[in-house]
Amino acid sequence: MSSLTGDLAATIGAEHVLTGPDLMTGYTTDWTRRYQGTATCVARPGTTAQVAAIVQVCARHRVAVVPQGGNTGLVGGAVPANGDVVLSTRRLRRLDPVDTLAGQVTAGAGITVAELQAHAAAAGLEYGISLASRDSATVGGTIATNAGGLYTVRYGGTRAQLLGVEAVLADGGVISRLGGVRADNTGYDLAQLLAGSEGTLGIVTAARLRLWPVEPHAVTVLTGVGGIETAVSLLAEIRSRAPGVRAAEYFEAAGLALVRAHTGLPAPLPRAYPAYLLVEVTGPADQADHLARIAALEDAAVAVDPAGSAALWAYRERHTEAISAAGVPHKLDIAVPVASLAALRGALDGAVSAAAPPGRTLRMIVFGHIGVGNLHVNVLGPDPADQAVDEVVLRLAAAYGGSISAEHGIGRAKVPLLSNNRSAQEIGAMRAIKTALDPVGLLNPGVLFT
Ligand SMILES: Cc1cc2nc3c(=O)[nH]c(=O)nc-3n(C[C@H](O)[C@H](O)[C@H](O)COP(=O)(O)OP(=O)(O)OC[C@H]3O[C@@H](n4cnc5c(N)ncnc54)[C@H](O)[C@@H]3O)c2cc1C
Repeated sequence: MSSLTGDLAATIGAEHVLTGPDLMTGYTTDWTRRYQGTATCVARPGTTAQVAAIVQVCARHRVAVVPQGGNTGLVGGAVPANGDVVLSTRRLRRLDPVDTLAGQVTAGAGITVAELQAHAAAAGLEYGISLASRDSATVGGTIATNAGGLYTVRYGGTRAQLLGVEAVLADGGVISRLGGVRADNTGYDLAQLLAGSEGTLGIVTAARLRLWPVEPHAVTVLTGVGGIETAVSLLAEIRSRAPGVRAAEYFEAAGLALVRAHTGLPAPLPRAYPAYLLVEVTGPADQADHLARIAALEDAAVAVDPAGSAALWAYRERHTEAISAAGVPHKLDIAVPVASLAALRGALDGAVSAAAPPGRTLRMIVFGHIGVGNLHVNVLGPDPADQAVDEVVLRLAAAYGGSISAEHGIGRAKVPLLSNNRSAQEIGAMRAIKTALDPVGLLNPGVLFT
């Protein structure tokens, strides 16, 4: 053992310090298999004090620390570079009883989104974040990436759920604000600063999170449409008449074919369509009929019970795994004003074909949370290191007044393109914050900035 791993073992117990490729592969390769790195070891602390001690040991040895939760991030932000220490938060399992009076809960960074959802549901409340990676993605990781997801159109992203954090800073100091006092105007909101900071400013160890009342009966409708323009106008129509829209998802025939081939699911509708809109509306059960009438949906599948709804959601939620089963995808999550979605989608085909390496045809699968202007553009075919298609798609999003990262963050993948979305002044201010809190660049160097 090197003295670094020896010191870490002395701090948290040798059984919680993993070394060797067999034990570390799951931590050094990302979910898509596109990003890989090497680590000196993986440290798995069980308490906040142990996180602080690890940070101090690594600072002494001048070795960078890469925080990692469920490792479901899609931009390489949790993957170590060369010889870093991966600090896995999965053993930070605090989960306090739900405070039903305040509608809040305190959860450790290593609790998964699915565990938090179940905990809230047992207390008659609901967590506002839901995503297909819920069984692995953690409270800490979703805060660090400000994750969005299926219900963002209704409840906002993770930032909107976040009331306070406990976190370890680069000097090993601990900040903690888990009281859940909502009326609190006492200076900088450090929890919100850490949200979306991708592990570059501090390591979140626990969070105080907002919960929501359980919505009345939900109705899920899946309908075929001619393309994204129709999907957007149909959604506008539905939203204008049904105030309780909490999810609005879009996918296309190419993605559906991949999902069906991967899962063996039957066709969702009697006829095939170029694209599909999935909407979930909460309200009385008779909204199902109402919704069907609004949309004049001749060919729609409507579910009013949880099992039926899950069956319809599977067509959308299983896209990511079906795409990954088909190859190593370039995953580009972009967003534009909803009014520009159709124009952007129209420009994508030509732009992606033009970025194909000579002699190769690229396969593009598009889906997304269109209620918030998001499209996930997945491209199969280019080599993992080839950035051509990434650059073309992200620049296109910026040209349409949008974002090069709707929800996954910048990570390592999009660092060179940050200036497409952020001015030199903004990047300068972000760098100043980073330098103030982490002057030697101990936490996640290479993520967000070079
Ligand atoms: C099938 C699938 C579906 C997905 N759907 C969505 C979706 O709908 N919406 C969405 O937003 N994302 C989605 N994602 C992406 C991913 O799940 C989210 O980015 C999620 O927030 C990552 O959580 P994690 O715990 O896996 O974090 P990781 O991947 O482990 O880490 C992500 C980043 O956060 C940092 N980090 C992790 N934990 C901490 C911590 N405790 N303190 C400080 N920094 C930390 C890491 O260093 C890294 O930069 C999906 C991914 C998959 C595989």
